Amino acid sequence: MNTVCIQGVSGQTQAVGFFFKNNLQLDKLEAYLANQPAEFIDSGSRLRRDVAYDRLKDAIQHANLEPGELLSETRLSRLLGTSRTPVREALHQLAQEGLVQVIPGRAVTVASPSAQVVLDVVHMRLLLEPESVRLVTGSISERNLDLLKKIVGRMEEACAKGDRITWLKADTDFHKIITEACPNKLLGDTVAQMRNRTHHLANIDSQTNPTRLAECTLEHQEIVNKLSAHDADGAELATRQHVEKLRESLFTRLSYG
Ligand SMILES: [Zn+2]
Repeated sequence: MNTVCIQGVSGQTQAVGFFFKNNLQLDKLEAYLANQPAEFIDSGSRLRRDVAYDRLKDAIQHANLEPGELLSETRLSRLLGTSRTPVREALHQLAQEGLVQVIPGRAVTVASPSAQVVLDVVHMRLLLEPESVRLVTGSISERNLDLLKKIVGRMEEACAKGDRITWLKADTDFHKIITEACPNKLLGDTVAQMRNRTHHLANIDSQTNPTRLAECTLEHQEIVNKLSAHDADGAELATRQHVEKLRESLFTRLSYG
């Protein structure tokens, strides 16, 4: 079967869910979960499924798992130190958000979108994300501006240290603040969904293109500058350029990968 490699890591493409790789990635997952700070794990009064959801979502977005990777309920229960029910509920919620895919009667895997779906999603992001940031410009709070500036500071520090995971987490936080601040809630939620469906691209992008982290940090700085100046046109343009860079890099991988 001739498929295009968009994952760019192993050269092995997904045949949606029927090719499960070995435990290499689960080891990565295990290592990631084991290294999480105690305050993140401490459930306090929170529901177990919410804790499982937060930890799994964080790991799927930042632990560099490969699309199509098998997520066994039993193993996740063990890794998270909880029963299977909260894990199952968390996985279903993550499936609704596009981060995992459920193959009925078979398994749950890290979402493994086809090349065509990835291109369609990036196209939608290009249409929607600049407009969502334009809307945010008119109503962004000083608190959120302050948070965004601090996040860019975290990105700069992570970039200087070559700490890719911290950088990726900062990127997730950055875009979460903006999508949640969107006055059109449906637009904000749709952008968040689209970003979930292509979150692995940022991960791969930063691995295959080492200068990308520094460039990308500057792109975020530019978005914050325009938001701070309440320059809606500028913020829209800066966001469009940010997504276009991702698309360019994706096309390069599709051409040569
Ligand atoms: Zn970004």
